[in-house]
Amino acid sequence: MSRYHPVTPEIIECLRAICGAENVSTSQADIDLHAKDQSHHEAHPAEVVVFPQIAEAVAETLRLANDARIPVTPWGVGTSLEGNPIPFYGGILMSFERMNEIVAVHADDFQVTVQPGIGHKDLNAELARYGLFFPPDPGANATVGGMLANNAAGIRTVRYGASKDNVLKMQVALADGRLIQVGSRSVKQSSGYDLLHLFVGSEGTLGIITEATLRLVPVPSLMSAVVAAFPTVEAAVETVVAVRGSGLDPAALELIDAAHCKMLRETEGVDLLDYPTVFMEFHAAHDAALQAGLDTVREICAEMGALRVHATTDTTERKRLWHARHHSYEIMVRSHPNKQFFIMDVSVPISAYPALIAFIEQVKRESGATAYMIGHAGDGNIHVEFPYDDGVSRDRAFRLNSAIVIKAIELGGTATGEHGVGIGKAKYMRREHGEALDVMRAIKAALDPNNILNPGKIFPNGGAA
Ligand SMILES: Cc1cc2nc3c(=O)[nH]c(=O)nc-3n(C[C@H](O)[C@H](O)[C@H](O)COP(=O)(O)OP(=O)(O)OC[C@H]3O[C@@H](n4cnc5c(N)ncnc54)[C@H](O)[C@@H]3O)c2cc1C
Repeated sequence: MSRYHPVTPEIIECLRAICGAENVSTSQADIDLHAKDQSHHEAHPAEVVVFPQIAEAVAETLRLANDARIPVTPWGVGTSLEGNPIPFYGGILMSFERMNEIVAVHADDFQVTVQPGIGHKDLNAELARYGLFFPPDPGANATVGGMLANNAAGIRTVRYGASKDNVLKMQVALADGRLIQVGSRSVKQSSGYDLLHLFVGSEGTLGIITEATLRLVPVPSLMSAVVAAFPTVEAAVETVVAVRGSGLDPAALELIDAAHCKMLRETEGVDLLDYPTVFMEFHAAHDAALQAGLDTVREICAEMGALRVHATTDTTERKRLWHARHHSYEIMVRSHPNKQFFIMDVSVPISAYPALIAFIEQVKRESGATAYMIGHAGDGNIHVEFPYDDGVSRDRAFRLNSAIVIKAIELGGTATGEHGVGIGKAKYMRREHGEALDVMRAIKAALDPNNILNPGKIFPNGGAA
């Protein structure tokens, strides 16, 4: 793209001076490793990879890149599923691998301040000794920076919220090299524009997160898992809606289709029936409260015609179940060695969930496509996984994806509940946001007038902002 300038040897020298020579790489291995996330989108190589260790180096790199009109794409660990961290126009790839420290644990305030490159699983392993945890859980060991930038969510979002609900304050480097603080460590905040949440979910297109203070919650003293199998997807989906409407407060509420259950039973030895299944988790401080909740769930499942309901408070069994659920996508991919996979993500209000699932079943049936469903049903969120092995099956998957995204928007939902827009969902932004997309463009132009921050994302037409 001619509007950007190449990374010259002089720029590399400047980057070495800013980040330290050992933190600047042009090796083919580093370029290749950061050219593609875990999506189906094609790889684009950066010209140089930098691994800053301090916020000031991030800010100075941006100042340099802005002056020289060179794109900068931040990178957590590249587990995105919509091409979000792919350096679409080359330039500088900024990896947060070497900014992965816990800065401070504020245990009395249920908060932690971290650098952006820390993996949320590594963070929670450290926090366990304080009896606290950071609840958003996207399965993969994603970084806090990548989670905040994508507003990632996960199985516990139904109770604890998404990444946006669990952050209080951030330090952000702007395109012009300024380092600013947004938000506050106060849980209540009513002071001025909510810049904190402007940067959350902006996928590295408005600024780069160099530090974040996160909200934590105490590790629950009692947890139970419930697995209920149903004769039809409709019955499973109606159960999800009924559990949500019952006043119970599930910590997880997941829908897994029959094909996924079969695969988890065969490959992981998980005790499941080959029928649409709802996985649930409940947290409580007292056994009586936990048991009362479980009784209500059993009643709801029985009313909905459950074929089997199994509840457990055994930690090992619960962890095994959730491990299988968390890794179901990877297990699915592994079980189809000759196929490529495309996974899509949409979300609707919970009342529209049955209509969305019925629509997916219908288009699947009519097209004859192979497609699997798995989702954070309690949030109205579903993922459809399409295996493909040639141009015909790939194009069909893309067509079905489009139909499902449009249907989700029509149902009052969104093109993406948690994976973000990246490259793949940019074409739906006008349909979903209407004139608000122009406001987004104006914000982008105000904060990044030279469009150097992760260009090619969010906005249609190659990210032209
Ligand atoms: C098997 C599997 C399961 C998944 N399940 C879920 C799920 O349940 N829920 C869910 O939400 N997601 C899920 N994901 C998607 C992915 O894990 C999340 O989107 C995650 O937040 C990406 O984090 P990352 O560290 O890999 O970031 P990356 O993919 O490296 O980057 C994500 C985005 O953040 C930007 N970025 C990175 N660091 C910064 C920074 N410091 N400042 C500003 N911008 C930055 C990047 O440019 C990019 O736009 C799954 C992915 C896989 C592979």
